[in-house]
Amino acid sequence: MQTVTDAAALRATIRGWRSSGQAVGFVPTMGNLHAGHHSLLKLARARADRVVASVFVNPTQFGPGEDFERYPRTLVQDQVGLAEAGCDILFAPDVATMYPFGPAASASIHLPVITDTLEGAHRPGHFDGVATVVTKLFNLVQPDFAVFGQKDFQQLKVIERMVRDLGLPVKVMSGPTLREDDGLAMSSRNQYLSATERQRAPQIHATLTQMRELFRQGHAWQALEQAAKARLERAGFVPDYVAIRRAEDLAEPAADEREGLVALVAARLGATRLIDNLPFD
Ligand code: AMP
Repeated sequence: MQTVTDAAALRATIRGWRSSGQAVGFVPTMGNLHAGHHSLLKLARARADRVVASVFVNPTQFGPGEDFERYPRTLVQDQVGLAEAGCDILFAPDVATMYPFGPAASASIHLPVITDTLEGAHRPGHFDGVATVVTKLFNLVQPDFAVFGQKDFQQLKVIERMVRDLGLPVKVMSGPTLREDDGLAMSSRNQYLSATERQRAPQIHATLTQMRELFRQGHAWQALEQAAKARLERAGFVPDYVAIRRAEDLAEPAADEREGLVALVAARLGATRLIDNLPFD
């Protein structure tokens, strides 16, 4: 595996692959890779002749007071895992490569409506940062397809919508959420949790599973949101939202809607903000 930090070098190698008809798969990440990331690599590996992963902690998707500075940066360890997962190129640019005019003076992509709710409502500007950096990465890598995790469900929907809206020539694929044995969704942020918090953290998945169970038993989705929020509060979480939405566009379902729904949670446990979701179908 080659590690490339320079945009011109990246382009030159990929141009060579593409001119010989090889299909390129791409997995964008912020690094500190775990088995969830590796599962996306595996999906890409199975479908592409060449696989590119990126590691870039993108400053424009972090709000003031969020964890940009302390976000775990473990490039050497990431290189080992990516090489084992069959990655051909690790693209690890610095901020100046991705934002030649600086993050504050850079172009920015805003997707209305879908970013107004859930994560977008609680993290203003977050999805502008995500949409912008993913567009830049797509332009640099020019992949045939890119793989995203269902763990960040709204992010996946935002990217799918952006690709369709802007006509970007990239196929968007997704992989399921990988979990620890106790149900906690794998995340680079789990390491911020204290031992006691780590013991409580699987309550998010347990709550989502219970919501799905009760929904399948015929309960109305509106009542389930309230009950789940109360359960998480009793377990010591401060929920930002507990919501049941239409999976397709994250709009609020009609009162009697029973198909194609997803439950989504964002909650703070001490200083750590965790997100998770569970499709009902
Ligand atoms: P991140 O490095 O957190 O920006 O994540 C990079 C990609 O990995 C995104 O598409 C995430 O949705 C995906 N991802 C993160 N955690 C998981 C997980 N537990 N299972 C599957 N994919 C994940």
